[in-house]
Amino acid sequence: MNISTTCSACSQRQEFELNWPVTAHPCQKCHRELLSHPTQAFLNQEPWDQCPLCGASHLYQRKDFNQKLGIGLIVLGVVLAYFTYGLSLLLVTGIDWWLSKRIPPMGACYRCKSEFRNSELIRSLEPFNLQLYDYYRNLR
Ligand SMILES: [Zn+2]
Ligand SMILES: [Zn+2]
Repeated sequence: MNISTTCSACSQRQEFELNWPVTAHPCQKCHRELLSHPTQAFLNQEPWDQCPLCGASHLYQRKDFNQKLGIGLIVLGVVLAYFTYGLSLLLVTGIDWWLSKRIPPMGACYRCKSEFRNSELIRSLEPFNLQLYDYYRNLR
């Protein structure tokens, strides 16, 4: 699994690969342990009950998809619809659907914004929830 996170002590952006059994992953800059909240479930490669980096109990999954690209595609479809009698709309919807089938989900933490990729465990996470997102945003 690949993890992308920000060290909570020194704000250094870090990316590392995590393998099981889990070993220590200190921050490259300040040497604080990044994986400071691994639960038993996490260590056993079972569905997670909390973020292994900050201990927040809510994580979500979403498509690892460049949202700007997705919106650009839709805008292009709408602009071209006039000239193509709506065919371009069908086309971009098709491309969007095709991409979303191909792109694996990524996991993310509402609180520390860590991102998780390349793991089957991500599929067990809940989909993105705007209320939870607002809740954690207001905590800061
Ligand atoms: Zn650090
Ligand atoms: Zn977290």
